[in-house]
Amino acid sequence: ATLYGVKEWGNGYFGINAKGHLEITPTKDESLSCDVYEIVQHLKKKGIRTPVNLRFPQVLDHRVVEVNEAFRRSIIEFGYEGSYQGVYPVKTNQTKEVVEEIVRSGNKYHYGLEAGSKPELMIALSLDLHPEALVLCNGYKDESFIRMALLARKAGRKVVITVEKMTELPLILKVAKELKVEPLIGLRAKLNAQGSGKWETSAGDHAKFGLTTREILDAIEVLEKRDLLDSVIELHFHIGSQITDIRKIKSAMKEATRIYAKLRKMGVPIRYLNVGGGLGVDYDGSKTTFSSSMNYTIAEYAADVVYTTKDICTQEQVPMPDLLSESGRAIVAYHEVVVVDIIGLIDTTHTKYTVTLTGNEPQILKELAYTRDNISVKNFAEMYHDAITQKDELLTLFNLGYLGLEDRSKGETLFWEVCRKLSRILSSKSLKYVPEEFQDLNKSLADKLIANFSLFQSMPDHWAIEQLFPVMPIHRLKEKPGLSATLCDITCDSDGKMEKFIDLKDVRDELPFHEPRGGESYYVAFFLTGAYQDILGMRHNLFGAPNEAHIVVDEDDTFKIQHLVRGDTVDHVLRSVHYDPDILIQGPQTKRKASAKSDAAEALRALLTEERKLHTYLEI
Ligand code: PLP
Repeated sequence: ATLYGVKEWGNGYFGINAKGHLEITPTKDESLSCDVYEIVQHLKKKGIRTPVNLRFPQVLDHRVVEVNEAFRRSIIEFGYEGSYQGVYPVKTNQTKEVVEEIVRSGNKYHYGLEAGSKPELMIALSLDLHPEALVLCNGYKDESFIRMALLARKAGRKVVITVEKMTELPLILKVAKELKVEPLIGLRAKLNAQGSGKWETSAGDHAKFGLTTREILDAIEVLEKRDLLDSVIELHFHIGSQITDIRKIKSAMKEATRIYAKLRKMGVPIRYLNVGGGLGVDYDGSKTTFSSSMNYTIAEYAADVVYTTKDICTQEQVPMPDLLSESGRAIVAYHEVVVVDIIGLIDTTHTKYTVTLTGNEPQILKELAYTRDNISVKNFAEMYHDAITQKDELLTLFNLGYLGLEDRSKGETLFWEVCRKLSRILSSKSLKYVPEEFQDLNKSLADKLIANFSLFQSMPDHWAIEQLFPVMPIHRLKEKPGLSATLCDITCDSDGKMEKFIDLKDVRDELPFHEPRGGESYYVAFFLTGAYQDILGMRHNLFGAPNEAHIVVDEDDTFKIQHLVRGDTVDHVLRSVHYDPDILIQGPQTKRKASAKSDAAEALRALLTEERKLHTYLEI
């Protein structure tokens, strides 16, 4: 494995350069590489502080091309008689520049957009898509959503309304009749085949979306009666995001293509078979079916979709459909890197002091010192249990008033010394295996680096569903790391921490980091956060969106800042919870006119006025 597994999960986009800095190669073309540490330093000089989200639009272009070319190659290889036309699901990352970049690079592939809500449809309709490109409307819809889609259809856009729920069909028919427009309709099937990993409940009988076989047949009957069978141009399914196992994709394809074939035989002229999202991202580089990984490549995905569809259509003797997919995660995950600065270290157990006893100390300290001096590979379990009992006794004696602060502190230090010795024993080679009860101990002994960011804003899925993202420092990578640590954020929430990290063979409880040096920033980055994290991010403690820089890499290792977006200001986050900062600044504590405190009140008002304009993170 490479350092921090960067080559394994980096997928050709990330690596380490000769200076020991993280480097990005946004198009996987070695002549276009750039030093990420230098970008961060350059931004700092311009006043753009960390935390900062770095976006690399060239990565988005590269991903769009990679997915489209993979399908194009498979279609040629298998002699497939239909085409491939993708759409980008806007929900994955709605950021304007992200969607616009995808539309620009997807134009030559007639790449379209998928919208799951009215605001997302507004975004999709505002963009200059290729005339052949599709706009798909998924998700639950009300009458005005449907009206918006049908008016756009009447205005000449290829807008398809996917029926997710039977009650949507009469609404579509009613509005279409009223507007005198022939709708383009898709049917979402509830497949029996399920995905894998964290999102597998998106399919199956109890899934939130989609039509059962009975409902599909009912829908066809309704449309046939209205002479609208020709409107049904798409059959859709989605078995969940981040499908880790290629076999799940194959079985879903088999089931969906059979449904397609049976409908074609019933005279429903479906043109598109939409395989939904789910194309995975190998967050840990292990190429396994673990939830942060996937056991296939984009090329294998495309080949399986194309081959299985062809195979079943040939067996069923029906025309091959044009293939559609709605990959979001795989398109946008790689384009964003979140860089944070480390602002401190919590090292409870890394005490500078060694306790030397004079002989006059209370008995409990003598007992703890005995444990410290005698714990060894032969007796560690028993000795550690003694230390726990002794620590409890120490605190009981303190609470009863028998010990002073000095003795308590000595006792605690002795206990941490026991833990440190134990930790060395547990990682020593002479120990054949680590007993289960000690496996979590190293985690609690790990140092904690405090990073200037909010987990809830920058990586909410790590908190919510324990999704793992690659993490590593972006410099000092030629130095041997001196710390093994976990990370915590600056929110006042003890859940704001990272204690699980990617690993090729396992999940790690801590990562190697370098000891921060005084007077020098130490930067750590989170990778592959471009999908979902930006938009799911929340303002816990009123920490808002970080600064953002869009970077284009040029030849000769240079880069250009294409766009800067200042992070949310204090003013912005206060307004988001209904405060008017103008009034807030005039609050009672700043109003003590003509009193001894008026100078301080004036100074406070001036400070608050300044602070309003700043971003919400720490300026250290
Ligand atoms: N299509 C539908 C209907 C979805 O629900 C989703 C998200 O779960 C996607 C596409 C995008 O999926 P992914 O990001 O896994 O490609």
